[in-house]
Amino acid sequence: MPPVPLARVIRSGLEESVHPGDVVVVDSDGAIVACAGEPDRQVFARSCMKPLQATVSLSLAPFNFTAREIAVMCASHNAEPVHVATVRSLLARAGVPEDALRCPACGSTLRDFRDSGRLGCDRCYVSFDTHLRDLLRRLHGSSQHVGERYESPGSAGGGDDPRSRLLELRAQLRRAVEGENFELAAELRDRIRVLE
Ligand SMILES: [Zn+2]
Repeated sequence: MPPVPLARVIRSGLEESVHPGDVVVVDSDGAIVACAGEPDRQVFARSCMKPLQATVSLSLAPFNFTAREIAVMCASHNAEPVHVATVRSLLARAGVPEDALRCPACGSTLRDFRDSGRLGCDRCYVSFDTHLRDLLRRLHGSSQHVGERYESPGSAGGGDDPRSRLLELRAQLRRAVEGENFELAAELRDRIRVLE
C-alpha cells in the first residue's frame, strides 16, 4: 500500500503542502492496534530512535536525569549553548570524556584521532565534523578553504560563477539538513545569504 497523506499544511485557505507517510500503533506484543498506509514498510528510523536510546540510558545509568537532560537526549537540536552545556554536564556526571566520541562506521574515537592524527574512514569526517572544524579554525583561522582549487584536466571550470556556487551551496545545505548537521547547515545558510 502506498503512503497516505498524514498532514496537510493550509495557508490562507489554500493547500501549501501534503506530507505522506505510514503510521502504525502496536501493543506490547507487537500486534497491530491501528495503522494507516503500509504498516510493514521498512524505513531508516533516524532521530525517531533517540527517545528509545534515551530509554535505555534512563534505565541503566546509576543516577537520575534532569528534565533538560532527558529533553536533549530525545531531541534533535542546533548545539546552541544551552544544549552543549547540558550535554557537557551529563558527560561529566557519567565520567565520559568528550574524546570518547566514536565513529559508528569504523569504531575510531576522537581520542584515537588526537593521538595518531589519522582518521579511521571517510565517515569520520562526519562523525567528528565539529571537532575537525574547530581544529581547522585553530590551525588556519578558518574552516573554509579560500585558496587555489584543483580543477581536473579537461574540466570546464566555471566554479567561481556565483550562480553555480549558489546551486552547490544549496545542495550542500540540503545534505547538511538531511544529515541533521545543523552547525554546518547554519554556516552554509549564512554563506548563501551573502551570495543572494
Ligand atoms: Zn570512521
